[in-house]
Amino acid sequence: MFTPRFLYDFEWFLLPFVSLFIIWYTIDAKAMVSDEKEYIEIAEMMRNEALLFEGTYIILEKILESGPRFAGSPGYTAAVDITQRIMEDLGFDKVWLEPVSVPRWIRGEPEKANIVNSERLGTVPLSVLALGGSVSTPKGGIVSEVIEVQDFEQLREIGEKARGKIAFFNRPMDRRNVNTFAAYSGAVNQRSRGAIEAGRFGAIAVLVRSMTTQIDTYPHTGMMRYDDTVPKIPAAAISTFHADLLSEELLHNPDLNVFLEINAFASSPVINYNVMGELSGYQYPNEIIVVACHLDTWDVSVGAHDNGAGCAQAISAIKLLKDLGLRPKRTVRAVLYANEEFGVSGGREYVQSENRKNEKHIAAMESDRGGFLPLGFTIDSSTEVVDYLQRYSYLFSPLQMHTIVQGYGGVDITPLKEYGTLTIGLLVDSQRYFDIHHSEKDTIDKVNPRELELGTIGMALLAYVLSEEGIPDWLAKDSLSN
Ligand SMILES: [Zn+2]
Repeated sequence: MFTPRFLYDFEWFLLPFVSLFIIWYTIDAKAMVSDEKEYIEIAEMMRNEALLFEGTYIILEKILESGPRFAGSPGYTAAVDITQRIMEDLGFDKVWLEPVSVPRWIRGEPEKANIVNSERLGTVPLSVLALGGSVSTPKGGIVSEVIEVQDFEQLREIGEKARGKIAFFNRPMDRRNVNTFAAYSGAVNQRSRGAIEAGRFGAIAVLVRSMTTQIDTYPHTGMMRYDDTVPKIPAAAISTFHADLLSEELLHNPDLNVFLEINAFASSPVINYNVMGELSGYQYPNEIIVVACHLDTWDVSVGAHDNGAGCAQAISAIKLLKDLGLRPKRTVRAVLYANEEFGVSGGREYVQSENRKNEKHIAAMESDRGGFLPLGFTIDSSTEVVDYLQRYSYLFSPLQMHTIVQGYGGVDITPLKEYGTLTIGLLVDSQRYFDIHHSEKDTIDKVNPRELELGTIGMALLAYVLSEEGIPDWLAKDSLSN
């Protein structure tokens, strides 16, 4: 009788192990398929529920009742009360506050600027906003010649010619860049470090072209820094329209004078609060998935996109899990951070709190690119981790969130990354964000309820999957080392 060759070669003592492997593999594959099916059903339930009711927008409206929520302001305190109450009323398992010391800066009387008596135009008012942290001008303002530069290199070349003058940084955000965040990064050092660099050469103040690609009369504020070894000079953002106008006038008359008055001042730090609310995990309650935002804004608007939208989404994502009766294995926690804009105080103090002692943070995701149409997620980790998360693409494709790529997580959750937590950013269509960013235009009429809701669904879904699956140890190590 013919006996196949491989039967002679087969090591028969392996048979029980091989059989066991086949049985295990079949069961496991079935389990995976049924998990997949269950996730697909859950994703569909989330879409149906959330898109029908658009509840995130209603939560956003409530948050914005606080008005502007700048660090240390009464508006911030009002927002803490509002968001705490929203989460309590929604019946989250636990809602609480943690204190955060925040620096205090007050704009004072509105800043003023104008071109002084130009031959062609006469006196022309300029729209300006003091940058966050700026010192004041001497009382009554200053009048000075202006020296325009595009970057720090050009400033160094001019050197002493800047002495006694207003340094005018006028390099635009690069409109050719499809990625507006990259364009912002390419220009924002003028705002953050302009006063330091100009101060070195004896300039008496700084005007910085607003960080936006739009040409309009709205100035955009933002954080600036000083260096203790350099004289501190006042600094303001100027609208793009007036930056172009001033630049044009300087061509005709380089000796042109500009008047600038800033009345801002610093005050003692005060206590604000991070606001937290969660659904507790039924199996691993001390393992946490954070859904994050920052509750503070600049002082010039209600910050509908930056970052009211993110906070409404964080709360709404947990509400969605709860409404659908989904009890997560691990704890899913909304963290509404205090003072991102003026120094990331809330993010830093969160990781240092005693309350973190017995907690393990598996992952943190943040929505802080505006409440626009979501495209996917940026993963602040290795390509292996990105590959691992891409296995869930099938859940996000029906939301038209097709992009899961390496990228930034978020400002407030970066301190968690330093403790080994995987950090993830909600990626959105960024074409309109810098039209309104840090300006009085950041209002709720710029928010589309449906786009906002899609972001909520994406966050809720990823939070749920991570709460069920956790992160394999080898991947967790990757996020640590990256
Ligand atoms: Zn923000």
